[in-house]
Amino acid sequence: MPRAWNFSAGPATLPEPVLRTAQSEMLEWRDAGASIVEISHRGPEFMEVAAAAESALRTLLSVPTDYAVLFTQGGATTQQALIPLNFAAPGQPADYVITGHWGKTAMKQAQPVIATHVAATSEADNYRSIPARDTWQFAADSAYVHITANETIHGVEFRDIPDTGDIPLIADFSSSIASEPLDISKFGIVYAGAQKNLGPVGISVAIVRRDLLERAGQPRADIFDYRSQLKAESMLNTPPTWNWYMLGLNVQWMLDEGGVAEFARRNARKAALLYSAIDGSGGFYRNEVQPAVRSRMNVPFFLRDEALEKAFLAESKAAGLLALKGHRAVGGMRASIYNAMPEAGVQALADFMQDFATRNG
Ligand SMILES: *Cc1c(COP(=O)(O)O)cnc(C)c1O
Repeated sequence: MPRAWNFSAGPATLPEPVLRTAQSEMLEWRDAGASIVEISHRGPEFMEVAAAAESALRTLLSVPTDYAVLFTQGGATTQQALIPLNFAAPGQPADYVITGHWGKTAMKQAQPVIATHVAATSEADNYRSIPARDTWQFAADSAYVHITANETIHGVEFRDIPDTGDIPLIADFSSSIASEPLDISKFGIVYAGAQKNLGPVGISVAIVRRDLLERAGQPRADIFDYRSQLKAESMLNTPPTWNWYMLGLNVQWMLDEGGVAEFARRNARKAALLYSAIDGSGGFYRNEVQPAVRSRMNVPFFLRDEALEKAFLAESKAAGLLALKGHRAVGGMRASIYNAMPEAGVQALADFMQDFATRNG
């Protein structure tokens, strides 16, 4: 059985060579006498895997030396709850720019801890656009500004890094990290759950400007404290070793393929192919996001005739194209085309869409 083209939004498709390496190392990692998930995280074997993953990630993303890289348990939502604990002082507000579902979620995670402030929102537009920077309004003494670089469900993506002056910019890059070159020095924190673009679910990456770690934050247990995690090299308790190992394999694969500049070229071609299949369908398919901020990673689209949705899903699945159903918050269809999705997969989807439209148009 060949593997299908998997357009799942997350957990998402992983590169086949990465899965094959993991398969070949499953029973025994090198000469360890056991697999990497059966041995101590404090032993030399896993320490080597962990350090190699960090070093590869730093190279891949060109992380400046004044930024710490943390590997933490849990997903992006956990990061969203930890950020106000670590970076807003008691009584200090923080700003949220809401451009879709995940921006709302991020703010919700902070609400029990701090006074959140909506600096801007595209809710009135059903999250089909990004509010212009000159309309944003920050709270006085704001601790940070939080944005969602790519809204996985609504399919909108920041194409420029907004200037927030002296207020640190914190960005959720869960669904677009490593999809193109990024100037990390423009951010206070870049964070991402792994399961879209970096590896399997269960581990997150937080890239934190070191001076921010000196901030007071809220009273918190050390397990939720980024400073303690950094001091313990992200091993205050048992880290998710399997996920860390898989993340390392995936990042190394990306480097071997040519790094983020190469993935940016591939992703641009993939997105152009899929959006032109939609835009060129004579209205059979449509994407409602403002063209300038259309996501290159998650492409939601609708069929003109909703009654055809069931047939579209059944027939695409039979054709080896998985997980095209849209998120229930938006409806319709969605294709997630992360770094690990080859151009051939997007071509197969575009061909199927054209054929389906011809047969049903
Ligand atoms: C998937 C996703 C999340 C949530 O990730 P979890 O790991 O499930 O907590 C948050 N933000 C964005 C942008 C996402 O795509």
